[in-house]
Amino acid sequence: MLATAVVVWKWFSPSMADAQSFRLGWMAEIWIRNVALVCLCAGLPHLWLYVLRRQNDDLRYDARPLGKGKRLFLFDDQVKDNSFLSLVPAPLIGTLWESLGWWAYAKGHASLISFDDNPIWFVVLLAVIPIWSILYFSVGHWLLHRGPAYTHVHSWHHKNVNVGPWSGLAMHPAEHVVLYGDVLLFFVIASHPVHLLFAMMHHTMGAPLSHTGYDGIKVGPLTLPIGDFYHQLHHRFIECNYGGAESPLDDWLDSLHDGTQAGDEKISTRRRSLSAAKRG
Ligand SMILES: [Zn+2]
Ligand SMILES: [Zn+2]
Repeated sequence: MLATAVVVWKWFSPSMADAQSFRLGWMAEIWIRNVALVCLCAGLPHLWLYVLRRQNDDLRYDARPLGKGKRLFLFDDQVKDNSFLSLVPAPLIGTLWESLGWWAYAKGHASLISFDDNPIWFVVLLAVIPIWSILYFSVGHWLLHRGPAYTHVHSWHHKNVNVGPWSGLAMHPAEHVVLYGDVLLFFVIASHPVHLLFAMMHHTMGAPLSHTGYDGIKVGPLTLPIGDFYHQLHHRFIECNYGGAESPLDDWLDSLHDGTQAGDEKISTRRRSLSAAKRG
């Protein structure tokens, strides 16, 4: 994700002169590049794993097929529903957030640093971004599971009990606004566009790649560890693993499902007590 952020900054980003004012030209270029990134990160794994079935169900978490003919989904089809939401609202809202960032750098509303001027802060911030991203996602995601936020917004993402790469960004557009909103950090602390892009890649690339439905993708003798067991369990059992393995949130909430029988029993009890509390 960091390497992609550097390549994008070097060759696929607007100039500071262009970003002085919001214009369709440079914003459309960002949008096209973001659509292309989603196509690569969701489309390629989908092609490999679900169309060509290059490794059949080897390393797959849940071997049941993705939903077809189900009225729950847009176009009655899980893959069409998921790819529509990943390709239309997701890159559009990501592009608007990113454009706001470029404009803020260009106008001096966000303070801009360079590696040469501030090498230590530059590197420290690169290390902070994955932590910030995980914490922001964990807390935001847990809040999306509460009350009307779940019923009206986050339930769209949870139509997917079993997931594929296109499911990662398949969510209500209001959730895209929240998801990419972590870039607000760069309005209050000094940063470089590579930092902004690195944070964005956690969603544009990270969301599809964490929803492959497989524990890894086999390419020749290599197994690329692309997938997220804990998040797969979140889609199956819902009231667990809001943050995943790296986040402390599930330890605090005692909501970590580790995939064992004991985890199953713990989360069944949690779900029963949450629905009892809801009934009052
Ligand atoms: Zn959720
Ligand atoms: Zn998910």
